[in-house]
Amino acid sequence: MTIKSILIANRGEIAVRIIRAAKELGIRTIQVYSDADSDALAVKMADEAVNIGPPQAAKSYLNADAILTAAKATGADAIHPGYGFFSENADFADAVKNAGMTFIGPDAETIRVMGDKVAARKTAAAAGVPTVPGSPGRIDDMEEARDIAVQTGFPVMIKAAAGGGGRGIRIVANLEEFDQMAPQASAEAQAAFGDGGLYIEKVIEGARHIEVQVLGDGERAVHFFERDCSLQRRRQKVWEEAPASALKEEVRQNLCLSAVSLAEAVQYRGAGTVEYLYDEVTGEYYFIEMNTRIQVEHPVTEMITGVDLMREMISVAGGERLSVEQKDILIRGHAIEVRLNAEDAAQNFMPHPGTVSGLTIPGGPGVRFDGSIYAGYSIPPYYDSLLGKLLVWDETRGQAIDRLKRALDELQIDGVKTTKPLFQVLTTVDDVRNGAFDTSWLENWLGNNIDQIKAQEGSQS
Ligand code: ADP
Ligand code: ADP
Ligand code: MG
Repeated sequence: MTIKSILIANRGEIAVRIIRAAKELGIRTIQVYSDADSDALAVKMADEAVNIGPPQAAKSYLNADAILTAAKATGADAIHPGYGFFSENADFADAVKNAGMTFIGPDAETIRVMGDKVAARKTAAAAGVPTVPGSPGRIDDMEEARDIAVQTGFPVMIKAAAGGGGRGIRIVANLEEFDQMAPQASAEAQAAFGDGGLYIEKVIEGARHIEVQVLGDGERAVHFFERDCSLQRRRQKVWEEAPASALKEEVRQNLCLSAVSLAEAVQYRGAGTVEYLYDEVTGEYYFIEMNTRIQVEHPVTEMITGVDLMREMISVAGGERLSVEQKDILIRGHAIEVRLNAEDAAQNFMPHPGTVSGLTIPGGPGVRFDGSIYAGYSIPPYYDSLLGKLLVWDETRGQAIDRLKRALDELQIDGVKTTKPLFQVLTTVDDVRNGAFDTSWLENWLGNNIDQIKAQEGSQS
């Protein structure tokens, strides 16, 4: 391994996760932090820590100069971008390389081709992977865009080429709405992502979100099967599991192999995820995007395959070949992750920063907690509200749900409101237990059942 030290250009639970992997590999860790994060767990765990500026991400975690200066000053060999922030920023990947360091992720060129959602759709189509019907490229001309929307058939989605994190997506029911929303969507995408580019997709109703984990070394790519991330709120995942029980074995094979073909078509190096919508009725799947980074929910896959994806992504970035062969990657049992956010589920998921006055982390067989909190930790209000992820593994899906319920009951996060009560209730809901949900199920269910969550929340304080 040529990488002897890694600077972590991220925060929160993913920074902790990267430090854990690096320590196991004997790699020195350097954690950057903003003024709001001086007490962060990752800062305490890393071998060294460097302040890179004020709380606002634009001035710290998105300040390339400050990060590169810290990396040079501490003699870092490599920079790990985690997810969000600079993880899918090709210019940053180039800047790291030009500074003589390794960017732990794909080449800048790969990020340019797959990180832009429009370019990725074209690459997928060219690799023979089915995409959602819609505009072939970016919408440049509004007249042409209207024609495409009509041909595609309403309802359509207007999406931002540079979108992510569930943002920049609008559903449009007819031409009138289209005329109204397209300019708004473009202005918003420009403000949020610095790129006003839009494209159109048909709305695939009743679909599941199924994604395939891949890993490549630039020559060869393998898949680690799929995850079902259909339980979403505002198009953000809240509960993820693997394998996807909705998939028939034959579809699973085709889907996973299509992700490998796509990764090999771009000589993919690093960890990545190919996301699809799956229509259970027709058995069709459609590519929606590729995330050219490690994902929040990667541990679900680690639990069913026994492979440490973080360690693998660091090794391949260091120039090693993949350590695994496709035939040796097997699914064992079932794993589920729930995202514990500092949010008040009963108050429309309003962010709820504050101080964690007490903490009990569950244990026992098949339980994993990837978090960034400790008793006495004050959650800063500046960043996303993910505090940690609770994961469980068991032989069957039903047993995994029972284990999740048990582990959630053990978990105590005092002093702040979290999404725990939502998951406690969900483990008892028939549709969830039966795996009978699509990407809009949770939102519909929440519309009618918020009282149950309030009651659950009330019963523990
Ligand atoms: P995953 O696909 O790994 O589940 P998400 O899509 O939820 O990841 O995004 C992971 C993190 O990155 C979240 O904190 C999200 O807010 C952030 N994120 C994703 N894409 C963007 C983007 N384009 N701009 C800013 N933040 C983003
Ligand atoms: P992001 O980059 O924000 O992750 P995605 O394109 O991955 O955006 O879509 C996020 C979610 O929005 C999907 O998981 C799915 O629930 C929903 N979605 C996206 N595209 C479509 C579509 N064409 N039809 C129906 N739902 C969609
Ligand atoms: Mg996505």
